[in-house]
Amino acid sequence: MQIAEEISKLKRERNAIILAHNFQVGEIQDIADFTGDSLELARKATEITSEVIVFCGVHFMAETAAILNPDKTILIPEADAGCPMADMITGDQLRELKAQHPGAIVLCYVNSTAEVKALSDCCVTSSNAVAIAASYPSDQKIIFVPDRHLGAYTAEQLKREFVLWPGFCPTHARFMVEQIQGARNRYPDAVIMVHPESPKPVRDGADQILSTGGMCRFALSSDKKVFIVGTEIGIIHRLKKENPDKTFIPLHDRAICPNMKKITLEKLLWSLKDMRIPVKVDEPIASQARKSIETMLERS
Ligand code: SF4
Repeated sequence: MQIAEEISKLKRERNAIILAHNFQVGEIQDIADFTGDSLELARKATEITSEVIVFCGVHFMAETAAILNPDKTILIPEADAGCPMADMITGDQLRELKAQHPGAIVLCYVNSTAEVKALSDCCVTSSNAVAIAASYPSDQKIIFVPDRHLGAYTAEQLKREFVLWPGFCPTHARFMVEQIQGARNRYPDAVIMVHPESPKPVRDGADQILSTGGMCRFALSSDKKVFIVGTEIGIIHRLKKENPDKTFIPLHDRAICPNMKKITLEKLLWSLKDMRIPVKVDEPIASQARKSIETMLERS
């Protein structure tokens, strides 16, 4: 039996659903029941009726699904698929930062551990950070963790100053303004889209600053034919699939998140076969983190 058929058969037997992030390898995106960005996946995780969710992404994403579905079995096919950005701030470091800024609201990017979410007032994603920050009074002090680039972008949009934690995504931090200039010279008619996790000079040189879900919606509705894609290259699989008549060129062809590529079809099959690797978030962290995710879903 072909591996894809075996996965489908086991999925039915286990009453499972497969969720995949936009940065997963193409064959995982193709076999998934739903592919999306962090916000789309978090929303989807609240609507699932299947008993088992196999999460093809990085660890914090599976944790988010576990926090939102405490009665379901959440599996991640690879234990080592972590997010370096999420690990750039610990609970103790956030406690210390909060003590330095009493009364401040803490917004945490969803790319964070359950403990950090539990210590925050509200989660945000790259697609809703600006709207959520804007929903707090303009004189409210805001601490933004862990991504300094998304935090700075959000503050710029609102003409406010945030207390920023110096975290970053190693994949997006590699983008350079010279790559934008090179793309403009080679493809003068292309639209340059970059993710807000990119450094400021890159954001300033781009035409559009969008989450990965935002890039998909923009490409679908745009009458342009060529797009330069300034995010992890896994998204190009979905963009091409949804827009077969358009051309998508990576801003940098080595913009690859190694952790997102750790999940393969074989590991997905083993995961369903052996019901591994379960992801569970203990109380009281789970309930406190749920509050900050639910606040995000209500405000976005
Ligand atoms: Fe983390 Fe960056 Fe990889 Fe996303 S692309 S999982 S933020 S390291």
